[in-house]
Amino acid sequence: MASALSDKLAKIVKEMRGQARITESNVQDMLREVRMALLEADVALPVVREFIARVKEKALGQDVVGSLKPGQTLVSIVNKELAAIMGEGQAELNLNVQPPAIILMAGLQGAGKTTTTAKIAKLLREKLKKKVLTVSGDVYRPAAIEQLKTVTAQAGAEWFPSTPDQKPLDIATAALDYAKKHYFDVLIVDTAGRLAIDEVLMNEIRELHSTLQPAETLFVVDAMQGQDAINTARAFKEALPLTGIVLTKLDGDSRGGAALSVKHITGAPIKFAGVSEKIDGIEIFDAERHAGRILG
Ligand code: GDP
Repeated sequence: MASALSDKLAKIVKEMRGQARITESNVQDMLREVRMALLEADVALPVVREFIARVKEKALGQDVVGSLKPGQTLVSIVNKELAAIMGEGQAELNLNVQPPAIILMAGLQGAGKTTTTAKIAKLLREKLKKKVLTVSGDVYRPAAIEQLKTVTAQAGAEWFPSTPDQKPLDIATAALDYAKKHYFDVLIVDTAGRLAIDEVLMNEIRELHSTLQPAETLFVVDAMQGQDAINTARAFKEALPLTGIVLTKLDGDSRGGAALSVKHITGAPIKFAGVSEKIDGIEIFDAERHAGRILG
């Protein structure tokens, strides 16, 4: 445990060691440090507050006050709680439906939807030997359709053409017909993103969802997004029954506090982590490792 400690928390443990008597106010001091660490990692403030309250309750319940190693006990509670919250839920994709299983990709523009679509296509093709079709419903940006075509080819999957003059719903249903006729196992539907949440975007993806009834609705979110992640997550959760989260750009230098915020708001399991721009840059999300990263 001690070797896995972040610097900040290691400092807390050390400070507590020098104290002859541990009081509830010492615990408060320690929690203040934890709070700082979470805020520095860009976990959204309301989420930090709730988390600290939860840890405090556990800490007092477990007799941190009076324990021989209060610092260590508290830090271990913090680590465990973080990992437990972020690791909650089924991490694997649920494609156990009548094929083709549909995966709907949701998120803001630039979050990494198109890249992740190709990464997942490759993963499914190589690891599970699935026959995968991709399609883009981003009729607002012809470049996005072309981008999906390119990365789908890199993934060794098949791409279904679409054009900006079509309606996203028509595109998706045409792709679904094609997927059925040609016995695809999985259809991944990439969608348009905006730079900020707007109602047109939300209505469009809501409509896609209710028509397609996807097996998975993945919310793709940029780990660098920081405090804003909470608002984005809330808007998408209100619009769609999300089944999973993909946290992208974890290769960047953010501490990834968005993971906790997004998980807290949506309740959906974090299924994947994007770890590079390359097509192989995707991993199953590791909650314990990520807890360590958040605490810095
Ligand atoms: P979309 O607008 O949501 O479809 O986002 P894109 O898939 O086009 O990705 C936006 C940018 O982020 C592109 O330059 C991608 O190469 C990059 N990107 C996506 N995922 C990752 C990742 O996990 N790590 C890094 N470093 N870059 C990523």
